[in-house]
Amino acid sequence: KQVAELIAAGEVVERPASIVKELVENAVDAGATKVTVEIQGGGIRYIRVTDNGTGIAREDVENAFLRHATSKVKNEEDLTRIMTMGFRGEALASIAAMCRVELLTRTAEEIAGTRYAISGGEPGELSDAGCPTGTTITVRDVFFNTPARMKFLKKDVSEGNSVAAAVEKAALGNPGVAFKFLRDGGVRLQTPGDGQVLSAVRCVLGREFSENAVPVRYEANGLTLDGVISRPSFARGSRGLQNFFINTRFVRSKTCMAALEESYRNTLMVGRYPSCVLNLTVPPQAVDVNVHPAKIEVRFANEKSIFDLVYYGCKTALGANRL
Ligand code: ADP
Ligand code: MG
Repeated sequence: KQVAELIAAGEVVERPASIVKELVENAVDAGATKVTVEIQGGGIRYIRVTDNGTGIAREDVENAFLRHATSKVKNEEDLTRIMTMGFRGEALASIAAMCRVELLTRTAEEIAGTRYAISGGEPGELSDAGCPTGTTITVRDVFFNTPARMKFLKKDVSEGNSVAAAVEKAALGNPGVAFKFLRDGGVRLQTPGDGQVLSAVRCVLGREFSENAVPVRYEANGLTLDGVISRPSFARGSRGLQNFFINTRFVRSKTCMAALEESYRNTLMVGRYPSCVLNLTVPPQAVDVNVHPAKIEVRFANEKSIFDLVYYGCKTALGANRL
């Protein structure tokens, strides 16, 4: 049971960055408008994610850490219309199986908040705690009880860089959420959460990128594309800055990348690539996110309609700006 649990946990949690990604997605799912992520020692030693979302009611706290406990999918039908980031109910169970976790949470209806600790899958007691509405999860000593896994962790610096990248993607995909990221005590990222993609882009990708950004807003057949793409003159030597999101979830999609690049046809030199921060809003039935535990890859019900959305959306934006 213990070994099976650790294997299952390992599928979801590969490194500190995957822990941060899951905790941030939970915060967003909980309706948070402010999310703070703090790490120390690359996230291996310490991760803390604080949100001002709904919080977890005392009677639901222990359940939230059970595998396949999710409050987000109630029946099979729900699975075909997933709007939330999480739905497998695996993240908290997995993190708690391999790390030391402390939870502090309160819902708006509760007078007292709840403190709960669970370490290596061993639950502790629930107790009263004073705290604002929302949730704070502290994760310490990642993989402390799975030395084989710990061996595969890279140096603090590179694990920390992966965490930073995860927070940046979350910030780009959720411009309506104010993100703050602290690394070893220093503030590394802060977004205003004003709902403007361009604000998030400026904070995450820098001023030069945002000043060379072309706005995109396109709708076709019930699908929407919005965000920014780079001016052709601002092309890069790699595809590293092609950021696509489906319903705010960061994805890697060959279809989207190909459509983006096709829309720049004949405007770029060989070996140069456009960059983007584009969110596709699609009905949940149009996309199957249930492909991989880390959920970065997606499958589309209709690849052509997705390609067309991105292609025509970008082409229209470039044309309107005479680029
Ligand atoms: P999932 O997100 O797939 O439902 P998780 O293991 O990530 O599974 O979380 C389990 C449950 O715990 C969620 O369904 C949710 O009810 C609750 N939960 C987790 N994190 C938060 C949070 N930050 N705020 C409110 N509820 C949370
Ligand atoms: Mg989740």
